[in-house]
Amino acid sequence: MTTGAPDQPDDPAERKMRFLFALRSRGITDSRVLTAMERVDRGQFVRGIFADRAYEDMPLPISCGQTISQPSVVGLMTQALNVQPRDVVLEVGTGSGYQAAILSLLARRVYTIDRHRRLVREAVALFQDLSLANITAVARDGSFGWPEQAPFDRIIVTAAAEDAPTPLLQQLKPGGIMVLPVGQSDHVQSLIKVTRTETGFDYEELRPVRFVPLVEGLAVE
Ligand code: SAH
Repeated sequence: MTTGAPDQPDDPAERKMRFLFALRSRGITDSRVLTAMERVDRGQFVRGIFADRAYEDMPLPISCGQTISQPSVVGLMTQALNVQPRDVVLEVGTGSGYQAAILSLLARRVYTIDRHRRLVREAVALFQDLSLANITAVARDGSFGWPEQAPFDRIIVTAAAEDAPTPLLQQLKPGGIMVLPVGQSDHVQSLIKVTRTETGFDYEELRPVRFVPLVEGLAVE
């Protein structure tokens, strides 16, 4: 006869504990990042047949042939960005809106851009449902940044370019940090952290990653 509580894989509290444990074991130690990731339910950003895998540490398909990043990669990028409470953050690649939702709990304001109007529309609806009032989302080509709102304290790009786009470097404040994957889209890319100094830019390579490509122009839907 067995004693004690049976294993309940679908118990939300258990699930959350396992989710946070997986993040910690992959190097996410910043308590503000962990708290934000505990508060934003990834299950609300994944739809359809993959919804029941939302708490696993894997990227998953979303609309428009795009992907919601792996939670541990979201955590590592957010941690590397070192967002401060008064920061204004630009995200390029809204996708599901999951990364923007996490940033919105850490920053003063988040501007997020996607080239797919449909993804922006769906993400905005979620931000409203979740009362995340400090996020502004727009459909346009994010490789040009958002000059009207620049400069930014922090910039995060969640699609891979061959190099850091010049307009984004220009829209970063001195002392500001940008985290982005660089490299060819069909290869393993490098996640890099760029810090703008008074005189130039410092580059630090963080780890290999795989992201969908940064594509030019607005998409058809
Ligand atoms: N951060 C997202 C995942 C993004 S997937 C999340 O948390 O779910 C990468 C996204 O980048 C895709 O949605 C894709 O449409 C978008 N993207 C690719 N090229 C772009 C560009 N030039 N401008 C804006 N968005 C772009």
